[in-house]
Amino acid sequence: AETIPHWLTKQADVVPNKLALELSDGTVYTFRELKEKSQSFARKLKQLGVDKGSHIGILSANHADMVIAIHAVSYIGAVAVLLNTRLTKQERTFQINDADVSVVIGQSGFRHADDDLHTFADVWNLPEPPATLQTELNLDDAFTIMYTSGTTGFPKGVVHTYGNHWWSAIGSVLNLGLNDSDKWLAVLPLFHVSGLSILLRSVIYGMSVYLLESYERQTVHTAIMERHVTIASVVTVMLKDLVEYLGEPRYPETFRCMLLGGGPAPKSLLEQAKSLRIPVFQSYGLTETASQIVTLRPADALEKLGSSGKPLVPAQLTIAEKDDGVGDIFVKGPMVTGGYYHNAEATESAFRDGWFATGDLGYTDADGFLYVSDRRKDLIISGGENIYPTEIENVLSAMEAIDEAGVVGKDDDTWGQIPVAFVVVNDPSVTAEIILEFVSRYLARYKQPRDIRFIDKLPRNASNKLMRHQLLT
Ligand code: AMP
Ligand code: MG
Ligand code: MG
Repeated sequence: AETIPHWLTKQADVVPNKLALELSDGTVYTFRELKEKSQSFARKLKQLGVDKGSHIGILSANHADMVIAIHAVSYIGAVAVLLNTRLTKQERTFQINDADVSVVIGQSGFRHADDDLHTFADVWNLPEPPATLQTELNLDDAFTIMYTSGTTGFPKGVVHTYGNHWWSAIGSVLNLGLNDSDKWLAVLPLFHVSGLSILLRSVIYGMSVYLLESYERQTVHTAIMERHVTIASVVTVMLKDLVEYLGEPRYPETFRCMLLGGGPAPKSLLEQAKSLRIPVFQSYGLTETASQIVTLRPADALEKLGSSGKPLVPAQLTIAEKDDGVGDIFVKGPMVTGGYYHNAEATESAFRDGWFATGDLGYTDADGFLYVSDRRKDLIISGGENIYPTEIENVLSAMEAIDEAGVVGKDDDTWGQIPVAFVVVNDPSVTAEIILEFVSRYLARYKQPRDIRFIDKLPRNASNKLMRHQLLT
C-alpha cells in the first residue's frame, strides 16, 4: 500500500513557523505548535483506550480543540466519526452505535446531551506517558466517517480514507492554485466534509486556516475585509447574506475565491455577486466525493453562469440514461469514497462499473460543463443542511394520531427551502403544536417542519406511491 509521511509532521518540518490556524480571538498556532499539541493530545487519548483502528466519536462545533483532536486521531491511526452537533440524542446515538464508536469526545457544552462524553478538557487533564505515534499515513486506511441521509432507511456512514482526502485536496489545488499568502476561511462546520476538507488542505499544502465557530455576517465580513483571508468556502444562504451586507465596499483584491457549494444557487444571486466583483467559484459535490468534485473557474463563470463547471483534474463525470440530454450524474475519481460503513447493500447500489451514482440529475453542454438540473429524489436543502422527507414522515407516522404524512420542501427566501408537513389525522383534537412537540423529541431542529397542514388524503399515483410534488400545488 502507498504511504506518505504524516502530513502535519511534514509541514511542521517544512514551514514550522508558518501559521497553521488562526482564531477570531487572536489565538494562533504555527504548524510546529499544531503538531506538538496534536501529538500530545494523541498520547493522552490513548489513555482512554483509543488505539490504532479504534472508532472515536467527535462532537464539537468549530474549535481549536476539535482541529487538534482530528489530527490526534491520525497520529493514533484511529478513525474519527464526525458527529453533527445539531442532531438530537436519538439521532446521534444511532450513528454512534452504527459506526462502532468506542469513545466519544467533544466540547463540554454537549456533555448534558451525552453522558458518555469525555470533554476536551478531560482529555487535556489526562497524563501523557510516552507512546508510539504514526509517522506515516497509509492512503488506503480509513480516516473519517461521516453520516449522510438517504432516500430510504437510515443515515449511512461515508468512509473516507487518507487517500480520498489527499486526492480531494490535490484536485482542488490543481484548479485553484496556491499562494504562499493563502488563508482559507473555515466557517462551515468541521463535521461536514466541506469544513473538514479545509483543515486537510491546510496540512497537505502548508496553508493557513482562519477558523470561525459559526456563521455570523459581521465576523465573516471582517475576516475577508481585514484579516487577509484569500479563500472562503460558503453555502448559498451565506453568500446571499454576505451580498446583502456588502453593499458598497468591495472585498480586497487579495480575496481570490469564494467557493460556493452544497446546493443550487439562484442565477440572480450569482449575477449580483458578479456585479459586486466577488470571485465566486460554483461547485458541485457530495459527502461521498469528499467535497467539490466539479468546479467552475471564474474565467468561465461569465459565459457559463449557473453551471457547476468541469470535473477536477483527477475526476471524471458522465451522464447516463439521457432523456432530452438530462440524465443521472455519475462521477469517478480517487477522492470518491469506497463505500458506506458496514453497509454492503448501500455501497453496491451506489456504484456501477466503478462509477458513483450521485442520484442527482443534470446535463453537460457542448463544451462539457455540468448543469445540475434536479437533485436526488426529494432531497430538501435548508440553509446548507440536507433533509430527507422520508425521515420526517417516519417520525410523524409513528404518532398515534397520525395515519399518514407527506413532507415537501417549500421555497424560502432565507433558507432556500424549508420542510412543510401534510398530515392525515384520526383524532380531530390533535393540534400542530402537539405534533411539533412530538417531532422535536426525535428530529434535529433544522429538520422539524415549519408548517403542519391538515389534509384528508395524500396525493398518490396508481401504484400508491406518494406524489410529494403535488402536495404544495
Ligand atoms: P451533501 O452530501 O450534504 O454534500 O449533499 C450533496 C447533495 O447536495 C448533492 O447530491 C446535490 O443534490 C446537492 N448539491 C451539491 N452541490 C450542488 C449544486 N452545485 N447544485 C445543485 N445541487 C447541489
Ligand atoms: Mg450538504
Ligand atoms: Mg400513526
